[in-house]
Amino acid sequence: MAVLKLNDISLTYQTPESETEALKNVSFTVDNGQFVSLVGPSGCGKTTILSVVAGLIKPTSGNVTVDGKPASSKNGDVGYMLQRDSLLPWRTIEDNVMIGLEILKKNTPENRKYALSLVEKYGLSAFLKHYPSGLSGGMRQRVALIRTLAFKPKTLLLDEPFSALDFQTRLSVCDDVRDIIRQEGVTTLLVTHDISEAVAMSDRILVLTPRPATVKLDYSVEVEGDTPLKRRENSQFSRCFDTIWKEVKV
Ligand code: ADP
Ligand code: MG
Repeated sequence: MAVLKLNDISLTYQTPESETEALKNVSFTVDNGQFVSLVGPSGCGKTTILSVVAGLIKPTSGNVTVDGKPASSKNGDVGYMLQRDSLLPWRTIEDNVMIGLEILKKNTPENRKYALSLVEKYGLSAFLKHYPSGLSGGMRQRVALIRTLAFKPKTLLLDEPFSALDFQTRLSVCDDVRDIIRQEGVTTLLVTHDISEAVAMSDRILVLTPRPATVKLDYSVEVEGDTPLKRRENSQFSRCFDTIWKEVKV
């Protein structure tokens, strides 16, 4: 069943000096629990698609629904995680994890309990009273993810979440994040310019054209392996990578 639906989205940015056509007739759906990646050349409109899904910018035409209702990050239906972990350095890990609940006014004892259960399940209990500066980049990303999952969004948006990490860290954090998303069963839309990351993590990959973005290929990834790292070792991995790379390149 489709949780997320984009219906014929077009968007033109208007500035006093110019107009930039960023999206043109973008349509796709994401099923419940599915992990879908958007790949495409730099500047094609990937981040713009996520901003539209989060309800942060209004499309020029078309509409987005989450569970059949207009999408919004303001009611907690959509959780948005950015490239930099954006944890607040002056708050402890515990207070960082709770901030989404506070902002959305969902800071009930029951929801706090759920957030703490995620902290415990994913091995961060010992760090609750620590500050973000005391944690590795990978652990900070895990905290940022738990903070987003704490308010139980119906759709999770990830914009280049690993690009600030070095290559080794990136591979293990990618496994870590994928595992949490799988266990929690969250419907996810990931933006990345890294094709290997998309192949390693996704059920489906949508290849976008250069700006204005439109979906040029909707590809089901058939690479065996329970984790991104295992997928990377699979012989089907490079075939899938080549298919996507050829589409992005031309
Ligand atoms: P991507 O994430 O694929 O690199 P973006 O969605 O960030 O691309 O941007 C798509 C295009 O829209 C780019 O040409 C960018 O310069 C332009 N753009 C992005 N945000 C704005 C804005 N707020 N005002 C005007 N143009 C913008
Ligand atoms: Mg971007």
